[in-house]
Amino acid sequence: MVKKRPHCVVIGAGIVGSSCAWHLVMKGAKVTLIDSERPGQGASFGNAGCICKSAVFPFSHPGAIRKVPGWLLDPHGPMRIRWSYLLPSMPWLYHFWRAGKANRVAQIVRAQVTLMNNVIDDYDHILAETGGEALRKSRGMILLYDTAKDFARDQWKYEFRERLGFPWQRLTRDELTALEPCIHLGEGIAVFEPEWQHLIDPGAVTQRIADAAFERGASWLHDRVRTVSANADGVSLLTESGRSLEADWLVIAAGVWSNAVIGQLGYKVPLISKRGYHSMVAKPNLEIHHPIMSASRHVLLTPMRAGLRVSGTAEFAGLDTKPDYRRAKSLMQNARYYVPDLDGEEITEWMGQRPMLPDSLPVLGPLPGQQNVLCAFGHGHYGLTQGPTTGRIISKLVFAEDPGIDLLPFSISRFRNQAKAISQ
Ligand SMILES: Cc1cc2nc3c(=O)[nH]c(=O)nc-3n(C[C@H](O)[C@H](O)[C@H](O)COP(=O)(O)OP(=O)(O)OC[C@H]3O[C@@H](n4cnc5c(N)ncnc54)[C@H](O)[C@@H]3O)c2cc1C
Repeated sequence: MVKKRPHCVVIGAGIVGSSCAWHLVMKGAKVTLIDSERPGQGASFGNAGCICKSAVFPFSHPGAIRKVPGWLLDPHGPMRIRWSYLLPSMPWLYHFWRAGKANRVAQIVRAQVTLMNNVIDDYDHILAETGGEALRKSRGMILLYDTAKDFARDQWKYEFRERLGFPWQRLTRDELTALEPCIHLGEGIAVFEPEWQHLIDPGAVTQRIADAAFERGASWLHDRVRTVSANADGVSLLTESGRSLEADWLVIAAGVWSNAVIGQLGYKVPLISKRGYHSMVAKPNLEIHHPIMSASRHVLLTPMRAGLRVSGTAEFAGLDTKPDYRRAKSLMQNARYYVPDLDGEEITEWMGQRPMLPDSLPVLGPLPGQQNVLCAFGHGHYGLTQGPTTGRIISKLVFAEDPGIDLLPFSISRFRNQAKAISQ
């Protein structure tokens, strides 16, 4: 029996949790959204802002693990593991390697497509309803390769893209210059992906979605959840400031911190913090019109309302170690390969933690044996893209409606045999 107005507690006010809260309240649930930070301050604040429908490829694929030692030695490389974190990250890297087998990659892509096919419609809906449309641009994205060899390495992705019907187009030099006069690519190759969109202030979009949920009656609890327990009748929570809550449903959208919550319910998944950085160039001295991503140098330039955001990189360093802002400076160095004179009035740096699972898929759906606890975390590189879709799916599960996609590939059960091996 579904209650007419179930009480749902959502832990985490990032793009995922805020979207869950909004969808739930719109369907008539009583909602409490809890976070010790204001909405949109975690990874959802400083990301590259891209709604990347065609980004369906897992980071692990045949041969990917072989690149890791080279990246470790390159201070400007796309991936860095702090030496002190090398040992703790080994189990995750092992599962990452296993997720990269060819047949598993095909399964992951198929699952990711089922989510990604919804993301534009879900953004259309949530932005229209929350008044955030002006914060989105639909201009596509330009992908750069420094050499033909780099492009050839990604050939398998283009073959997949063709089969999946994701449009892309190779740009001539003149076409690239017409779109982005400031970009210098030398002998490189440029590709245009027309379906990509971007948000010019992802933190503000998240805050707006949360605010819209509050306007519709959701409650805000500025606190941190310390303990949770659940049984067939409902869930109980205790916060750091000593408040206790009872509810019918619990939605765990705590991003990279989600293991601390599910751990109390007997679960642990190989969730790791894959840190990323940005340098925000305020009042840049040149104009970039589209998101521009370098597949060779692993850097993304996104035009935003506060300036040009230069973001990317992957650092494995654990949850609580201090940021290493040399990573953000390396991003600027890589960006200046394409825009040598890039500068601005002020450059600020930021670090955020992507909640990353080895197979690049999020965990969506109930905890086995605990049907009133729903997982909505682990979106890795694509949480901004998939937040509103996740919110809609979670709200449908609460109201016992068909979520519209097969949730089996996203089930926490896929980590059954890995749960104990991982330490964070
Ligand atoms: C450099 C960078 C670039 C990126 N670019 C893109 C991009 O272009 N497109 C894209 O789709 N994605 C991108 N991402 C990924 C995206 O930002 C994340 O996947 C997404 O923000 C995750 O959202 P979330 O709501 O799960 O987590 P978060 O935004 O981190 O929110 C989790 C929240 O949970 C709260 N919390 C945790 N534990 C508790 C607790 N016990 N009690 C109360 N609250 C708690 C935290 O305080 C936090 O506010 C990028 C990420 C980075 C780092």
